[in-house]
Formats: sequence, C-alpha cells, structure tokens
Amino acid sequence: MTDSISLPAHHWPILEPGWVWLCGAGPGDPGLLTLHALNALRQADAIVYDALVDERILDWAPEAEKIYAGKRGGKPSAKQRDISLRLVELARAGRRVLRLKGGDPFVFGRGGEEAQTLVQHGVQLRIIPGISAGIGGLAYAGIPVTHRDVNQSVTFVTGHDQSGSAPSSIDWGAISRGSQVIVIYMGIKHAAQIAQALLGAGRDPAEPVAVVAGATTPSQKVLETRLDRMAGDIAHTRLEPPAIICIGRAALMRQVLDWQGQIAGETPRDLDPLGRGRPAEQG
Ligand code: SAH
Repeated sequence: MTDSISLPAHHWPILEPGWVWLCGAGPGDPGLLTLHALNALRQADAIVYDALVDERILDWAPEAEKIYAGKRGGKPSAKQRDISLRLVELARAGRRVLRLKGGDPFVFGRGGEEAQTLVQHGVQLRIIPGISAGIGGLAYAGIPVTHRDVNQSVTFVTGHDQSGSAPSSIDWGAISRGSQVIVIYMGIKHAAQIAQALLGAGRDPAEPVAVVAGATTPSQKVLETRLDRMAGDIAHTRLEPPAIICIGRAALMRQVLDWQGQIAGETPRDLDPLGRGRPAEQG
C-alpha cells in the first residue's frame, strides 16, 4: 500500500531535519488525508501521533519511528507539556518530525499550544490542516453542516472544559439563541447536562439530533434522536466516544443524504425532510 499512491507533480515541501510538521490526519478514513499529509508521511523519521489517528495511516510510513502520545487502555494520557517538549527534543536531535493529530490540529486538538511551544523554543514548523470530525464526520453520516433551508451559522463547541467537567464556562443560553445548528465535540460524557442546559435555555425538546460515533471508520454508528431523549438514547445504545453530536434540523437531511445507507441498498426515507416542498434545483 505504501507506494500505491504517487503524489502529482508539484514542488512538494521538504521536511528538513530539525523541523516539526504539525499535521491533521482527518477523522479516520485514510482517504481523507491531504496530499501534504501524505508528503509528510513519506519523509518523516519520527511520528508522534494521538489515539484518534487511524492506525492504517501510519502504515504509509513503514520506516519511521512511531511515538504514541495519547490515552489508550485506561492509561493516563501523556501530559500536554511533555508532548510539546518531546517534539522540541526530537527536533533538536535533528529528526524529521511529524506530529500527527486527529481531524484538524487547530480544532479542539491543542495544536495551537503545541505550535506555541515549538515557536518559543525556536523550532521551525509547518502547519498542515486536516478535515475536522465536526464537518467531515457529519458528511459521512449524510449531514451537511450548513444547508440553506436550515442555518446561516453553525457553532462548534466542546463538551467539556479544561478540567474535564461539564463546560460551566460555556454560555449555553447564547448558543441556544444564536445558532440553529450546534456541533458538539467530546460531548458524550456530559450529554445529559448539555441537553438540560439547552432545554433550560428554551431549545425545542423535539429538536432533531444525530450522534455520529467512529465517523468515517469501518465502525461508524449513527444514532438519530431528539434533544430531550439524546442522553438516554446515548446511554441505551452504548455509543462510545469518539462521537460528534449534531443538534438542529440539519440532522434531518440524513433521511435523504445517508449515502452509505443507500450504497447498502436502503431507499431514502423522505426526499423532503425539511418540508419545504422545493427540490434544491428550484432554489
Ligand atoms: N482535532 C479533532 C478533534 C479533537 S477533540 C478534529 O478536528 O476532529 C476529540 C473529539 O473529536 C472526540 O471526542 C469527538 O467528539 C471528535 N472526533 C474525532 N474523531 C472522530 C470520529 N472519527 N468520529 C466522531 N467524532 C470524532
């Protein structure tokens, strides 16, 4: 598999010794890597990767040393500061370092903090964006994160704060009033509190919700529910992280755009789930 994809002719940047490339690996499906990520995998001799990076992606760098920096099997996660300093150390040792993170490195991934530490230590870096789970993961479930008939804005929010508890610092009232579609990262653990906060701020209990777990991977699971039943249904169906929660009528679009279900032979359930009575081409 390593050499089955050749990069198109282009002046691809060279990963020089002593540099760190901070790179998004996308939500899972290796096909969602960028060409810059592939170029990086081909040159790196040290790859520091997170739990959310799909193992199949690492197969594209068979020779590189792989350094795991995440939580797995209940072990405590490597401390953020230790990870950042490890990157500095590797760079100073003259390695070609690839820091590979799930999704996009700057979306709820502490990529900004790592980049800051590198700059503070005089390490040269390149940032390679990736497809974030809150956009690409929803697309794999047939949910467009914006749709003209649904929303003019979307809010991406984390389900817990720095201490790991329910996000008390988030103004759910403002989000509830200001955003027709709410996309929650890391929201499974505190789903009940989040639902309660949104309902308390006046959100419709019957509002459609989709929860996409393991998005874009072979084990992708999608739960379709409503706001007042969201937490109970998550517990009941034993949905496990990583999962994205999408609250809003965009979730209904899955009824017609569940392209993976259609590939599996199911027929679309409702061709006009938003009830506008106008096919897109008339708009
Ligand atoms: N930088 C990442 C987000 C890291 S925070 C990105 O841009 O996607 C970790 C959270 O991302 C998880 O708790 C989950 O909410 C979400 N996530 C990452 N990969 C996912 C996947 N394959 N399916 C569903 N959610 C995912």
